[in-house]
Amino acid sequence: MINKRRLLLFILLLLLPVTLNYFSPYIIIDGLANKVLAGAFFVWLLMLVSSLFVGRAFCSYICPYGALQMSVDLAIKKPLKQVRWMRGMRYVLGILWVAPIIILTALNIGNVRINPLYLTESFVSVDNIYKLMGYYIIVFALLILPLLMGKRASCHYLCPMSILNVTGTKVKNMMNLPSLRLTAESEKCTNCKQCNKACPMSLNVAEMVKQNKLDSLDCILCGECCSACKSSVLKRKVESRNKHIKEQISAQI
Ligand code: SF4
Ligand code: SF4
Repeated sequence: MINKRRLLLFILLLLLPVTLNYFSPYIIIDGLANKVLAGAFFVWLLMLVSSLFVGRAFCSYICPYGALQMSVDLAIKKPLKQVRWMRGMRYVLGILWVAPIIILTALNIGNVRINPLYLTESFVSVDNIYKLMGYYIIVFALLILPLLMGKRASCHYLCPMSILNVTGTKVKNMMNLPSLRLTAESEKCTNCKQCNKACPMSLNVAEMVKQNKLDSLDCILCGECCSACKSSVLKRKVESRNKHIKEQISAQI
């Protein structure tokens, strides 16, 4: 059966020469410096707001950079090299990226215009030879980490934008908002570890099931583990965290 999520990501990847600027972390800042809310501002705002309802699913369904890494993962199947000290890097980069956005937004409040096509007047992001060269540099740079360090290494160690939906996920958990979550009927688990093999984020899903701790901030709610589990232990459901925890406790009694 065709994996519809992967198909969607491949289409988004093919469209990247058109959409690159709308996903650009740089164009937001350039736009705000020139008192413009560019298309990328709204795309990453969508990522932040969506995380209150669907956690980090933006990473598994919308992000073309994730799609790029997925393609490498499928081609070379290299396990992730776990490097503890590198895990904080994406948050440092995230703060360095978000700080100017907040400062420029505050400075320009009431004095900005909206232009989704800012620096993309032809609608297509890569519309000349120089931009094509820049496109290949970006793609190559994004490919280096997964090629050297395995599955979705750029998501784990580099992506500054992940600070947005990690923050949103923390907020929704604190506020106990009903949202998309990974749930498990732990008692049905046979510990076959097929879920671990399927997880694109290299999570130890079987251990998460055993410990009833399914709300890892690295989970992008892709559902690959749910499909891989032949015992139907894992499901994605919309529910509040409290309900989820209550169900986990009653399953343990
Ligand atoms: S695939 Fe299912 S049964 Fe196997 S370890 Fe994972 S949750 Fe348990
Ligand atoms: S734990 Fe499951 S839903 Fe979460 S990232 Fe891994 S495979 Fe996807």
